[in-house]
Amino acid sequence: MTDATSLTLTEARDALKARRISATELTRAFLGAMEQARGLNAYVLETPEQALKMAARADERLAKGEGGPLEGLPLGIKDLFCTDGVRTTACSKILGNFVPNYESTVTSRLWRDGAVLLGKLNNDEFAMGSSNETSAFGPVVNPWRRAGSNAALVPGGSSGGSAAAVAADLCLAATATDTGGSIRQPAAFTGTVGIKPTYGRCSRWGIVAFASSLDQAGPIGKTVADCAVMLGSMAGHDPKDTTSVDLAVPDFEAATRRGVKGLKIGIPREYRVEGMPAEIEKLWAEGARMLRDAGAEIVDVSLPHTHSALPVYYIVAPAEASSNLARYDGVRYGLRVNGRDIVDMYEQTRAAGFGREVKRRIMIGTYVLSAGYYDAYYVRAQKIRSLIKRDFEQVYASGVDAILTPATPSAAFGLAEMANASPVEMYLNDVFTVTVNMAGLPGIAVPAGVDGQGLPLGLQLIGRPFDEETLFASAQVIEQAAGRFRAAKWW
Ligand code: GLN
Repeated sequence: MTDATSLTLTEARDALKARRISATELTRAFLGAMEQARGLNAYVLETPEQALKMAARADERLAKGEGGPLEGLPLGIKDLFCTDGVRTTACSKILGNFVPNYESTVTSRLWRDGAVLLGKLNNDEFAMGSSNETSAFGPVVNPWRRAGSNAALVPGGSSGGSAAAVAADLCLAATATDTGGSIRQPAAFTGTVGIKPTYGRCSRWGIVAFASSLDQAGPIGKTVADCAVMLGSMAGHDPKDTTSVDLAVPDFEAATRRGVKGLKIGIPREYRVEGMPAEIEKLWAEGARMLRDAGAEIVDVSLPHTHSALPVYYIVAPAEASSNLARYDGVRYGLRVNGRDIVDMYEQTRAAGFGREVKRRIMIGTYVLSAGYYDAYYVRAQKIRSLIKRDFEQVYASGVDAILTPATPSAAFGLAEMANASPVEMYLNDVFTVTVNMAGLPGIAVPAGVDGQGLPLGLQLIGRPFDEETLFASAQVIEQAAGRFRAAKWW
């Protein structure tokens, strides 16, 4: 097989089962592709020796007709997941060369099911960002370019390495995390599929925390079915995370074949934001048409508190981050800059270890939690968060099965293009995604078309709590109607 890296995850799984290719051959093909694609900066650490060892063990199991659902499938892991014996940094200088001596629950499930670790993927520092430009390892380059242009584009963030690696065939699929859009926005910017499951579906244990009430792990994959298979392994109850939910994990792959006949899909009028490009508006209408053609009923719905979502998110997320990041003090692990005394050591370590965006979030978070401002900002934001959640509850109570929106307000933008913009302009990227985290709901981004410059655009489907199956079913209908989108190779 000459181009094994272009297989989808489900195709590779079937090829391995049928012994048309070995896990070792497949792994070597990816390691070769990764070597050629270092200019994209998708991986911050390659683990070829470990990959080949895991592949050899997978081949032994496959030879005996054994093996789990992901046996021999090479994956990339966002550098926010702790991996036993493998450096994990959250792409922050403050973690230095931290090597965990434990494995996150999500990744341990992938290895239990037979997957192969290719390496750790780049992300925005502590997952704070929408362009992967805040990483201590430098930005990731999007494998997509505008037609007739060589200008480098961002892959989105924070899971920019995951999305770029999947889009450039540098792994079969990748893990990612989503606090306000970090799975769905990079998926939309790279023509890949990404699902943020319901809060509580995946264990957060062993994942570097950003905002604990919003963080969820999920996959980025080449197809809807690939994401379904990945999530089936990643999900499930974990006693080590009290917010993980004790619910059976459904057969997500089977759900992709359900179709949408008889489903009611809501179109929220408040997502028609000012200044939205006509192309996005058109794509959204096209998506609704695809679902209608497949037998769904399209209805208008209202989510009246949508306009408050961004300001509320940018209070709640930094508040939780400022608390979570208090542990990086130079004492227990990671970077230490010695000072005159212990307080000076803390200050010097945190000043040198955190990047600008992370410092900004810590300052905002500390401010909104401070004694004089707690009620005015944090408590108020929590109240509005409840209203946002109630908006969704009311729409679902009216019989709507899923909600269709654009995934992002634009296609991928240029690297460094936002360098002089205010941070708020960068935050606008999250306008369609943050509500979903605040309400704890599942959301999937699926590519649905290209813009005038040939760049992929994504649509988002938002589901009822723990109803990822309906999202897989409806995203599959869009994928079938729109086709798959692949970047032309230039790297
Ligand atoms: N872009 C958002 C932020 O910067 C979301 C990030 C995320 O989901 N991790 O906070």
